[in-house]
Amino acid sequence: MQVSGQKIVVLGTGGTIAGTSAQAGDNIGYTAAQVGVEQLLTAVPGLQALAGGALVAEQVAQIDSKDMDGEVWRTLSLRCAHHLNDSEVRGVVITHGTDTLEETAWFLHEVLDAAKPVVLTCAMRPATALTPDGPQNLLDAVATVLAPGATGVLAVAAGEVHGARHVQKVHPYRVNAFSSGDAGPLGWVEESVVRWACNSPVVPVNNTVGAMNNIVSAATWPWVEIVMNHAGASGRAVDALVREGVQGLVVACTGNGTIHHDLEAALVRAQNAGVRVVRSTRCAEGQLLPKPGDALPASQGLSPVKARVALMLDLLRMHCCLLYTSDAADE
Ligand code: ASP
Repeated sequence: MQVSGQKIVVLGTGGTIAGTSAQAGDNIGYTAAQVGVEQLLTAVPGLQALAGGALVAEQVAQIDSKDMDGEVWRTLSLRCAHHLNDSEVRGVVITHGTDTLEETAWFLHEVLDAAKPVVLTCAMRPATALTPDGPQNLLDAVATVLAPGATGVLAVAAGEVHGARHVQKVHPYRVNAFSSGDAGPLGWVEESVVRWACNSPVVPVNNTVGAMNNIVSAATWPWVEIVMNHAGASGRAVDALVREGVQGLVVACTGNGTIHHDLEAALVRAQNAGVRVVRSTRCAEGQLLPKPGDALPASQGLSPVKARVALMLDLLRMHCCLLYTSDAADE
């Protein structure tokens, strides 16, 4: 779609960026998701000016992102799609907690037809901290929406622009908590100007046809769990999950996709029983390289949490295909 508008919509979902603490020096004993998104924007000097006075705030949720779930994702993706379809809108900023930001980024990447930029931002320090990082991150997120060439789902924090596929929270405390591992950031925000890491900052936009429809029409989300391989791993948790009706399992494998033989046997049993099983790696960097003859498929480079999102969407697609097919047969 042609970008003609200048409006920048900021969707608030909570997180530390909206958190408050009783003591300014307390960077861990705060409560996330307390300050409304409108108030967050007002508190950043120069933000409206940078956006040409065209910022619009909307509160979609007010949660600590550890509690992120399918219902908030459904609402958030629908609001994003609504605004992206508006020719007056230049792009969308989402304020989000850092803990599950990478999962929401990947989910939105998979379901939105985001030719316009959708920029997630966050903070590692609450709004009441001695040196909160949220205001600068908000300014940088808006600058990224305005940057020539910005497209797709991006994450902006600590002066870096990351793509949805590789971004990961890698540190529980420091302010620059995000990394794209081997891939590196897509760019940097310097004094409200984005310097892209390559000459043509084109972020591939996924073919998302149908994904939003599936999300809207599904009554419930598919049940997909993550299990981890480790020394002494057994298959008992997997057997129990299968008994309870789990539909998908992502394995955070050791190294290049290795799994303790007891756990692997249970996973193969699960797969034979119709449960979708996907292998990822628990290694913080790099990606699992599949080899011919592997009994369990690999996650195509996705981390365990993003492989879970991808598998949920795939199961949703298959479920909706079945529904559509049986509807058509009934007619
Ligand atoms: N627990 C917070 C959240 O994810 C952490 C943060 O935002 O930094 O909402």
